Amino acid sequence: MNDYLIKAITKDDNFRVYCVNATELVQEAHVKHDTWVTSTAALGRTLIGTLLISSAVLKGEDKITVRLQGDGPAGSIIVDGNAKGTVKGYIQEPHVSLDSNDQGKIDVKGAVGTKGMLSVTKDQGLKEPFTGQVGLVSGEIAEDFTYYMAKSEQTPSAIGLSVFVQPDESVDVAGGFLVQTLPGASEQAIDELEEKLKDMPLVSELLRDGKTPEQVIYELFNEDNVKILEKMPVKFECDCSKERFKDALASIDKKDIKELIEQNNGAETVCKFCGKKYNFSAEELKELL
Ligand SMILES: [Zn+2]
Repeated sequence: MNDYLIKAITKDDNFRVYCVNATELVQEAHVKHDTWVTSTAALGRTLIGTLLISSAVLKGEDKITVRLQGDGPAGSIIVDGNAKGTVKGYIQEPHVSLDSNDQGKIDVKGAVGTKGMLSVTKDQGLKEPFTGQVGLVSGEIAEDFTYYMAKSEQTPSAIGLSVFVQPDESVDVAGGFLVQTLPGASEQAIDELEEKLKDMPLVSELLRDGKTPEQVIYELFNEDNVKILEKMPVKFECDCSKERFKDALASIDKKDIKELIEQNNGAETVCKFCGKKYNFSAEELKELL
């Protein structure tokens, strides 16, 4: 398992930094949802962004739901994450395959659109989950997450997300980083980071060169100045179960359940997040009435 996330801090207390290799996880999402290239990159970037944001803002049993709703052909992208490095997600239209943009890159903005909303719902075990919402500023996703962090979390940060897809549609590499500026960070350190970020290759290029998340961090900050705090495995995992779908079925109108029994002799439910199917026989449906 090469997928893992590194949490680190700079020894000068100017920045917190998170970096993840999520190649296997994004490949798994691609296979589960049969995504085409542009959808693979859009869903992949949202999965990686959610992993990074979850690590930066969640604790313990907290959960997060990210909804990216743009006006492009991909439709909405929904990703659930937690503080333990687990994500699950889906894209409304998995079959988007656009020509590369004028920089020769996957045209994620073309799939997502440039008008719409990024909303993040945090469930921190309190009575009401909290939702922060910002308008899309780019459609390339990393910039949209950066804007969310600045506006909703009041945390200035720099985020890079990238997915490299092979000609055969499989995911070659996928990863990203998030650098959070800490209160009291020196102006000089911020300027230096901005200069570094301008010249830095895409994370996917660094990962393709065989660099580890730790080494990607050392591209941004001098190794002597970095203190690694944690190394955490990350994975795509769905927590759905037949029991959960049974509860969902039980909450629909009795009339509709009767109809499923009489006309379909049962029901098949499909989990949007992982594609798993759960079948309910007529007998099982009768129990719900
Ligand atoms: Zn599922």
